[in-house]
Amino acid sequence: MAPERDKAEKTARPSLGGPRVLLRRLRETMAAPVSAQEKLDKVAVLIAANMVAEVCSVYVMQADDDLELFATEGLNREAVHLTKMKAGEGLVGLIAREAQPLALSDAHKHPAFSYRPETGEEIYNAFLGVPILRAGNTLGVLVVQNRAHRVYTEEEIEALQTTAMVLAEIVASGELQSIVEPGETIAIRRPISLAGEILSEGIGLGHAVLHEPRVVIRNFVADDPASEGARIDQALEAVQANIDELVERGGKAGQGEHVEILEALRMVANDKGWLRRLHEAIATGLTAEAAVERVQNDTRARMMRSTDPYLRDRLHDLDDLASRLLHQLVGQGFVRPKEELPDNAILVARAMGPTALLEYDRARLRGLVLEEGGASSHVAVIARALGLPAVSGITNIVGLVEPGDALIVDGVSGDVRVRPQPDVEAAYAERARMRARRQEQYRRLRDVPAVTKDGAVVSLLLNAGLRIDLPHLDDTGADGIGLLRTELQYMVSPRLPSLSQQEKLYRMTVEAAGARPVTFRTLDIGGDKVLPYFRHGEEENPALGWRAIRIGLDRPALLRVQLRAMLRACAGREARIMTPMIAAISEFERARGMVEQEIAFLRKHGHELPARVQFGVMIEVPSLLHQIDEIAASADFLSVGSNDLLQYLFAADRENPRVAQRFDSMSPPFLRVLQTIVEAGARARKPVSICGEIGGKPLEAMALIALGYRQLSMSPASIGPVKAMILSLNVKALRTRLAVWMKERARKDSLREELSAFARETGVQL
Ligand code: PEP
Ligand code: MG
Repeated sequence: MAPERDKAEKTARPSLGGPRVLLRRLRETMAAPVSAQEKLDKVAVLIAANMVAEVCSVYVMQADDDLELFATEGLNREAVHLTKMKAGEGLVGLIAREAQPLALSDAHKHPAFSYRPETGEEIYNAFLGVPILRAGNTLGVLVVQNRAHRVYTEEEIEALQTTAMVLAEIVASGELQSIVEPGETIAIRRPISLAGEILSEGIGLGHAVLHEPRVVIRNFVADDPASEGARIDQALEAVQANIDELVERGGKAGQGEHVEILEALRMVANDKGWLRRLHEAIATGLTAEAAVERVQNDTRARMMRSTDPYLRDRLHDLDDLASRLLHQLVGQGFVRPKEELPDNAILVARAMGPTALLEYDRARLRGLVLEEGGASSHVAVIARALGLPAVSGITNIVGLVEPGDALIVDGVSGDVRVRPQPDVEAAYAERARMRARRQEQYRRLRDVPAVTKDGAVVSLLLNAGLRIDLPHLDDTGADGIGLLRTELQYMVSPRLPSLSQQEKLYRMTVEAAGARPVTFRTLDIGGDKVLPYFRHGEEENPALGWRAIRIGLDRPALLRVQLRAMLRACAGREARIMTPMIAAISEFERARGMVEQEIAFLRKHGHELPARVQFGVMIEVPSLLHQIDEIAASADFLSVGSNDLLQYLFAADRENPRVAQRFDSMSPPFLRVLQTIVEAGARARKPVSICGEIGGKPLEAMALIALGYRQLSMSPASIGPVKAMILSLNVKALRTRLAVWMKERARKDSLREELSAFARETGVQL
């Protein structure tokens, strides 16, 4: 971090009034009711006088990465808004690119020096420039120059860096946007489009709310460095104690991953280098808060240029720690109080736990943007259940937005638009309105039965898993729950849910459903669904490994508790239970044996039993396709898990974006498999439903109905579109056509085109 210097003799001069006076004056200037340009001009005069420099210039980064001279004291005034440097060009560009101070007694000798005649700077020899940094982003460069070949002292460099922190606030406030040329934008206000990973579908427009609010520092300079040093030590101690407590609590609760993260944080909090840098910053006259911000700004600016994943991970830890420390110093809660939430909030966070998201008022949320967290993360599960558009994988989004900035979350393409241009915003607002209109149309269909034009009655069911899913039963007018993914409760819980916690959720679910059926699925963990408190070692191929019913059969206590909770919750009514990932009939029979054991147990202990128990099988593993009549004879009902069935049939990992879309569910082989299953069900007179994603997509659902499926289970948002499709479908016509295509076009990779053409020609609403 040591700024570059040359060997001229040290000729330090005292500065007028010192940094404290300067900062006070700067604050007064910033608060004055004058134009942004006047403020900036005044700031340049003040800094020059205080630093005993002949020149002070402020360069601001523009949206096109040019650094534009915005104000100067000492250089030719005509150069203001005229002189521009590219990042990396000239000394100013170099400072911006490196995000480091540069002090030279003879600037002309530096290889990067670039002479700009319009500025008249040739007479100035000594040069000191510092980056204007905020949240790791370079917003501009602040420069002072002197005629004499002088060396700037360490204290002067520090003082100019502190001054730059105050200037960063003026730039970040957006105030300077009023003085740029028409059509130009300063970098901090520039519109940015970023591509991420879709966590939850939908489009959200709103304003940024930082999940962990940034602390605004009002006081930069301290009167008494010793007491600031003591403040930082105390705050760090409190933060360390808090982390220790969290580690201990997490350890007791068996929260492996969580504890690992905290342990890493604890290591950083004890890092001597970091602590030393904080104390050094305080020794220069900064308050404890300003010291944390300064050290973190420098660290961020340096580390963000690194491609080393280890360093970048460490940066997250340091950010987290700095944020905790700042909140501790200002005595502010680490998480935003609920009442501060605006009406159209888009939450922005580095990462978020599932329970943190549930603490917000859903009615005020429009979207969620995260730096980290995959589609199968718990927070993604919750976002989907809440119907909240969410995108993840957006690097440094926390540093790129200011609270209140306009944001668009496009959970259809995975894009996030920061400060969108008016035309982009208008286009998205129109898309959002269209979606809302369609939603309104679907709401009107709520009580309309799903019957095709030629009279085929289809049952539309919900895929659910959490308490927050239950209101969707009534909002969508679903016929029941076709798949209750019980593992979601396990996934969002910090520890294994107890018998009574499970029973409580199941009872609530059947009560919400009333007379409508609820199909419980036994625990489906392993593969992509990981429980932090239930880790069973790394597997080479988790999708082919120890998962779902395989775990349930090997750990009967786990499965039996769950079956007991289900049977107890369904006392006096029908209990519908199915098992995932069955690959052999013997597995199904063993699981059924456990259900019978549990029924016997409950009977013996005088519990009220379900009126009827239906025990079904999920068809997800292709081996069952070759024993389909036998399994149909054993099970009370069949449910096709098309997500897994497709992945195992084509040997294509559903979580791997390179192969997940490679094979089509509307391909002749998969359609034939689907036909085989529905026909086997009909022969055995056993109901067949489908609960994978394809049941909720209108075109696919159309093909399924043509194949003979009459029970489709899907996410709540799909009920309306699928019902609209059904109401406009003539299934007999499609059935005949599909049979012909499956025979005559069997060599094709997909019959999607044929299905789309049919829908277009016959007016089916897709
Ligand atoms: C499926 O595999 O289609 C299914 C419904 O189960 P999940 O998506 O939960 O694995
Ligand atoms: Mg599955």
